[in-house]
Amino acid sequence: MCSYHEQDRASMGQRIALDLELVKGLRFFDPHIHMVSRTTDDYQSMADAGIVGLIEPAFWLGQPRTGIDTFRDYYSSLVGWERFRASQFGIRHFCTIGLNSREANNEALAEAVMELLPFYIYKEGVVGVGEIGFDDQTAAEEKYYRLQLELAKEAGLPVQVHTPHRDKTRGTSRSMDIALEHGLDPGMVIIDHNTEETVKEVLDKGFWAAFTIYPFTKMGNERMVQIVKEYGPERIMVNSAADWGISDPLAVPKTAALMVKSGISKVAIELVCYKNAITAFAQSGQLDEGLLNEKIDVDQGQKFEGNSILRGGQQPRRDTGSIIIS
Ligand SMILES: [Zn+2]
Repeated sequence: MCSYHEQDRASMGQRIALDLELVKGLRFFDPHIHMVSRTTDDYQSMADAGIVGLIEPAFWLGQPRTGIDTFRDYYSSLVGWERFRASQFGIRHFCTIGLNSREANNEALAEAVMELLPFYIYKEGVVGVGEIGFDDQTAAEEKYYRLQLELAKEAGLPVQVHTPHRDKTRGTSRSMDIALEHGLDPGMVIIDHNTEETVKEVLDKGFWAAFTIYPFTKMGNERMVQIVKEYGPERIMVNSAADWGISDPLAVPKTAALMVKSGISKVAIELVCYKNAITAFAQSGQLDEGLLNEKIDVDQGQKFEGNSILRGGQQPRRDTGSIIIS
């Protein structure tokens, strides 16, 4: 016999499945999600919900790295194994490469990372420099933010900017001012983790405004619906920023479903949950929208450097609805 709590969870699961029916047939693109810390079940449910492509920004691992080799291996996995893993669920995987703001504060390591970045930012599937910017808004963070803006400018790549969670309004203004100071075109810069307090300034200054839907916290998707109602869909994009913390890899399709319920047009939903992010990051020359229209032939028996996603003797998963695990 299950507890009330379990019954609640079960009925919530059914409701989400019903709500996602509202967006059946729509395609989604999540421009900020950290798949290395997600499971194959996540990939499967994302594909089932209509996510056809995603961008995985380089970030920190939840604890500080101790050497340059772990950066190298991490970047290699973003352009290698993770890209392959996504393809095994029919999802196109892109990434942005950069030194995250937290680890910019370890200057000895940051210097070594700066030397490594040029070996990765020109690789196939790298659609920008990111996620970079401010965390605590220290001098070291500013130094490496500026250096990486120069790198992006030189490479002609878009920049994905992480804005700080503390002192957000000031940190966001500062991030944009510095980008302009370095001569970056605001149309090449995606300012992420916006709120009601920052969105107006970001749009007024001509930057792209990305919004992360965080479950149980500040930026829930009901607030996102209000923002699109108030500001319209131009230059706005929605992402999940799902990682190793409490987060939701279905945040984009769920928000789209809520927008359908709230009477927002399908054209507007397509812009904020699919098209705008593609337009912004396609400026890298590494993201071909035509490719997203083509279905990937999924063959889970395929291998990447000799390794497949199947463990000994497994058959590729077909019936996701069955309660029998065979
Ligand atoms: Zn992130």
